Amino acid sequence: MSDATNGAESGAGGAGPLLEVRDLVKHFPIRKGVFHRTVGQVQAVDGVSFTLNRKETLGLVGESGCGKTTVGRTLLRLIEPTSGQVTFDGHDLVGMSRAELRPLRRRMQIIFQDPYGSLNPRMTVGAIVGEGPLIHEMGSREERRERVEYLLERVGLDPVHQINRYPHEFSGGQRQRIGIARALSVNPDFIVCDEAVSALDVSIQAQIINLLIELQDEFDLSYLFIAHDLAVVEHISDRVAVMYLGKIVEEAPARELYHNPRHPYTRALLSAVPEPDPTRKKERILLTGDVPTPINPPSGCRFHTRCPQRMPVCSGEFPGRYDIGPGHHSHCYLEDPAHAAEEPAAS
Ligand code: SF4
Repeated sequence: MSDATNGAESGAGGAGPLLEVRDLVKHFPIRKGVFHRTVGQVQAVDGVSFTLNRKETLGLVGESGCGKTTVGRTLLRLIEPTSGQVTFDGHDLVGMSRAELRPLRRRMQIIFQDPYGSLNPRMTVGAIVGEGPLIHEMGSREERRERVEYLLERVGLDPVHQINRYPHEFSGGQRQRIGIARALSVNPDFIVCDEAVSALDVSIQAQIINLLIELQDEFDLSYLFIAHDLAVVEHISDRVAVMYLGKIVEEAPARELYHNPRHPYTRALLSAVPEPDPTRKKERILLTGDVPTPINPPSGCRFHTRCPQRMPVCSGEFPGRYDIGPGHHSHCYLEDPAHAAEEPAAS
């Protein structure tokens, strides 16, 4: 075993953040012709940095195609990053070989969006939830069976009557509970919840989010909670990062982001969140135009083609990081006193 994997199988009890991501880049080559010549790059993730503390939830939010799912999968090395650094509990994941990565895989799990497509239809629920412990040679056969039964019960299923059933016999919400039990089966420290509730009805969404919060407490979990809807992440997240076209444009503690959004894109997303109090009116900020293609993203601030407050400076360089308060930063020239008084650019 190399130095890199020493202690990799043990739980996350160390000091410092559980996960540190620095300048993560993932570009997918576009190939054409019989010789598969590279003719361009999809710049799915372009310089993303954040940290995730132990037993914390970071919400990662943005419109479809902004790169958030690619971030989640690249962290787990389900997709190889183009460049950047990912450190999990002190281990440099990007520099590891597949063999070195293996003991860490158990500690990093994913819950997928599609509870219909992510479960093997030919396996019983018991076999699905028990597969991970079997692969990682955890416990005896009897212990694994007990673990599966406990987890099924814990996620709200009936182990006695449902353990031998197949995924098609369950509703969408129940299938997502099976996906959660499967992720928990190997005793992970970190779970990527990739649009884990997006395909569910609103009432079921709330139940699954509450379940994830309870399980976080019980199993000492850290979550990267990926969603396209700010309303969904509000309840579960300690901090929220907002992504647009491959870059994080604002990050803040959840409460601060919802009460003091600074980036115009965050404000537009928040304006679309329904107001629970019908007596309070909220002005909807309608963004014009489509999200530009990540093959050829706009220069400067990538949001400048749709931003209602864009200024001449915005199309030059990507704005640097402006610190607003504890844990709150934004990448927007409006935070720079030198530019904040500028006239908006003509449309
Ligand atoms: Fe809008 Fe300019 Fe800020 Fe980008 S940098 S969000 S274009 S004001």
